[in-house]
Amino acid sequence: MIQELQLRILPEEAANEQSLKQVVARETGTSVPHIHTVRVLKRSIDARQRTIYVNVKLRAFIDEEPDEPEFRSVEYKDVSGGKPVVVVGAGPGGLFAALRLIELGLRPVVIERGKNVRERKKDIALISREHKVNEESNYSFGEGGAGAYSDGKLYTRSKKRGSVDKILNVFCQFGASTSILADAHPHIGTDKLPRVIENIREQIIRCGGEVHFETRMDALVIRNGEVIGVETNTGESFSGPVILATGHSARDVYRYLHDRQIPIEAKGIAVGVRLEHPQMLIDQIQYHRKEGRGKYLPAAEYSFVAQSGGRGVYSFCMCPGGFVVPAASGPRQVVVNGMSPSNRGSRWSNSGMVVEIRPEDYPELMKHEEMTVSQDSPLALMAFQERLEEVCWLNGGMKQTAPAQRMADFVNKKNSFDLPESSYTPGLLASPLHFWMPEFVTGRLREGFRHFGKVSKGFLTNEAVMIGVETRTSSPVRILRDKESYQHVTLKGLFPCGEGAGYAGGIVSAAIDGERCAEGIAGYLSLI
Ligand SMILES: Cc1cc2nc3c(=O)[nH]c(=O)nc-3n(C[C@H](O)[C@H](O)[C@H](O)COP(=O)(O)OP(=O)(O)OC[C@H]3O[C@@H](n4cnc5c(N)ncnc54)[C@H](O)[C@@H]3O)c2cc1C
Repeated sequence: MIQELQLRILPEEAANEQSLKQVVARETGTSVPHIHTVRVLKRSIDARQRTIYVNVKLRAFIDEEPDEPEFRSVEYKDVSGGKPVVVVGAGPGGLFAALRLIELGLRPVVIERGKNVRERKKDIALISREHKVNEESNYSFGEGGAGAYSDGKLYTRSKKRGSVDKILNVFCQFGASTSILADAHPHIGTDKLPRVIENIREQIIRCGGEVHFETRMDALVIRNGEVIGVETNTGESFSGPVILATGHSARDVYRYLHDRQIPIEAKGIAVGVRLEHPQMLIDQIQYHRKEGRGKYLPAAEYSFVAQSGGRGVYSFCMCPGGFVVPAASGPRQVVVNGMSPSNRGSRWSNSGMVVEIRPEDYPELMKHEEMTVSQDSPLALMAFQERLEEVCWLNGGMKQTAPAQRMADFVNKKNSFDLPESSYTPGLLASPLHFWMPEFVTGRLREGFRHFGKVSKGFLTNEAVMIGVETRTSSPVRILRDKESYQHVTLKGLFPCGEGAGYAGGIVSAAIDGERCAEGIAGYLSLI
């Protein structure tokens, strides 16, 4: 017998399959030995009241074995003889484009400027240890893209549930835990993601596709208004229509497109800091318990949003039980971001705290920073990001040390004379962020923090530290493409894809966009 149950149970009852079997036995009047398997279909935590519950929808197999797989898999065919398609960038956009191309009978040729995901780890370690940023291999560049060393959060605002489910199932097929199919806020974790990414690469190669690391696209090959391939820094060229999935940190790509007068436009971004609290404090606040989360609850999350001066102020990419990481991708930059291991077990919680910036805000920002790029340039907000990252580097001691300030001191415009212990391994330097960051950002952050402190008692505290600067929240540029065909508006054969093109924000939405662009190419080659 198969029975589906919707339950509201205590965290210790939802802790593992054994405890769930006991609940199912109680609810169905059976005994535990009769329950063969319990599959969790949906799981979310309700921490609104003093007693915390877990809402679980599950399927119990009583006196029978499950005859259905835990996830849906895709059959990838041999495409060795298929038409080649060049995929530039091996982030989630590029990798999911490559997988979908294979499903459609096309042969992906992936080129990636960075190293493979394991080699990349060594360069990432050097940033913390020796303050050396390899411009081609860092937290943004390399196999797996910007999401490889991250929290691996897999939730998205995308409304297309079917597309999201497909991406989550593909992640499971390549080794992610099936809990991502059930959790309301699924995440994979930085310790598990590299293996999943390697499995995707191995599948692409097994099917007859190619993956070239340390190969940077330097130019598009254009003939009669049609993109027919790319030239690379290794001297090798690759032929085929092109999916351009180079992410939001490939500033050289934006400059190249702009110099060639290929239509792009400025796009709004969000800029601010990483805010780090002790995880224990966030657990106490969110779970309303002095003793914290205890043994059975996960590291607590939060999400805040407010309006200040007509712009949004919000928490972004929260990493419970995580680490703040140095995410610069070039010289003279300090940029921070966050990641978490799968168990979210560190002593810290961090989140971006950012202020929305629109292209029309540029003149206001120019008053504060020395900007040389004109307000009409599509690269104006990118130039602002670059300038802020440079100012941060200067204030951080011209290393990967990050300037930082205690949260309540910032709100009260006071210098912090010491800083709390932090997960940011290159080190922090006490600095008056309220003084040198643009008032456009700091004024709104201050107001936002006051509001968040009111709605969440204890959140606005000097136990929390603000670490500068968070600038890579989304692309400052949109590469213009047709809504239906996903093809560039003026260049045939070019498919701008993912976050860097301005059509996604996050791992899942970039992956969905990768699939769309692959389908666009199949249409272009008259396959569908
Ligand atoms: C530290 C960190 C943590 C994050 N955490 C999360 C999270 O938990 N959840 C989430 O949803 N999102 C997270 N993000 C954001 C997420 O990673 C991105 O939204 C997503 O990776 C975008 O995918 P993409 O494929 O469009 O671009 P990217 O992932 O940026 O990939 C672009 C790839 O193109 C390559 N490339 C660039 N230029 C060239 C060139 N000229 N030639 C060849 N290759 C090139 C780059 O090396 C890179 O590998 C995080 C980002 C960072 C940096």
